[in-house]
Amino acid sequence: MTRTLITGGLVITANDEVHADVLIEDGRVVGVAAPSSHGWTADRTLDATGKYVIPGGVDAHTHMEMPFGGTYASDDFESGTRAAAWGGTTTIIDFAIQSVGQSLRAGLDAWHAKADGKCAIDYGFHMIMSDVNESSLKEMDGLVSEGISSFKLFTAYPGVFFSDDGKILRAMQKAASNGGLIMMHAENGLAIDVLVEQALARGETDPRYHGEVRKALLEAEATHRVIKLAQVAGAPVYVVHVSAEEALHEIATARHKGLPVFGETCPQYLFLSTDNLAEPDFEGAKYVCSTPLRPKEHQAALWRGLRTNDLQVVSTDHCPFCFTGQKEMGRGDFSKIPNGLPGVENRMDLLHQAVVDGHITRRRWIEIACATPARVFGLYGRKGTIAPGADADIVIYDPAAEQTISAATHHMNVDYSAYEGRRIAGRVETVLSRGEVVIAQGEFKGRAGHGAYLARSTSQYLN
Ligand SMILES: [Zn+2]
Repeated sequence: MTRTLITGGLVITANDEVHADVLIEDGRVVGVAAPSSHGWTADRTLDATGKYVIPGGVDAHTHMEMPFGGTYASDDFESGTRAAAWGGTTTIIDFAIQSVGQSLRAGLDAWHAKADGKCAIDYGFHMIMSDVNESSLKEMDGLVSEGISSFKLFTAYPGVFFSDDGKILRAMQKAASNGGLIMMHAENGLAIDVLVEQALARGETDPRYHGEVRKALLEAEATHRVIKLAQVAGAPVYVVHVSAEEALHEIATARHKGLPVFGETCPQYLFLSTDNLAEPDFEGAKYVCSTPLRPKEHQAALWRGLRTNDLQVVSTDHCPFCFTGQKEMGRGDFSKIPNGLPGVENRMDLLHQAVVDGHITRRRWIEIACATPARVFGLYGRKGTIAPGADADIVIYDPAAEQTISAATHHMNVDYSAYEGRRIAGRVETVLSRGEVVIAQGEFKGRAGHGAYLARSTSQYLN
């Protein structure tokens, strides 16, 4: 039995900020108590004086090694989870993909094979449903009972991930009966495809047109529609990567009516804008993702949504593609640029900067980045907090340190940073995953295969 004691830090959870010591035994937290109130001894002591002691981040939206447009996201489960650990994230929930014509099981097996033995931190899976039919609908029950309790569908990407309204309704009805949670990528993909074709015909091929054709109105329309479909089905719905103020308004309106509607946003929508998409010499391609970056004015609405709890979660949608050789596939045709941004390493730091900037409080930082994603996706108790019984996934965070984000120093397997040159107050010092040190004093001490697969319960955020 190994006992580790973290002393002298400010322990911050979604609920509390207390000066306390944390005792860890066999990978779990066994005690949190005021320094003078206990007589604990340990094999190893980590001094956190002057530092924050926070739960490891829970990133509920990543795409390691994801196939897209003829290429693959450049981080695999090994490099991506290692980078996550560097950034203070100790749990990811990635997306297993069902291809058209395939069973859910076949997609899930393929993703287990990609991740097994590779991960530095713990991981779970959501299931992307690309082919809703009698048989895949039946499979949903079994998946929920074995720990895949959330299913993502798309109103975007016709011909790839797209499901029509009838299929979405059927999946939502199924989720209403088995306790699953439907996650929606909400953009009107059929209308967007028309606008893409028209823009290209006018010779509008630069990355910035990616943002112009994927209109905020078409995000709002699809958000409104999936909320209504969920209401008809009597199911909760979780809208991923909300970027437009108009879409947030649809979510807020539904929530004010008491509907179980949830919204996630991502750091790129909080910190970046269409100004980045318009960067010259094709540099804008670095910022192509869907939903797209929006004009700066949307940022204030998203921060407000995070403060008022109309948005509950910040995930990364980490889906990196190198500028050289991957993003470049879309030179001369923005619709061929692989969609996605790197970010799994940067989320905890960027949100700490948001605390410093006054957008959110410290406890809200932990709530939107650790506790609520764990609760929404059935991991709370084990993940997302520091309390007796929880996995000892803990970050010692130095709020007084400073750093500059750069591709030259990050650990993600991608040749650029979306936040290049950005100054950040605060830095991860030590990271524990189930009590094992994975990051210490600027060194990676973890290993591929330490990370365990997490079978999740149904959502703990719905009642
Ligand atoms: Zn995504």
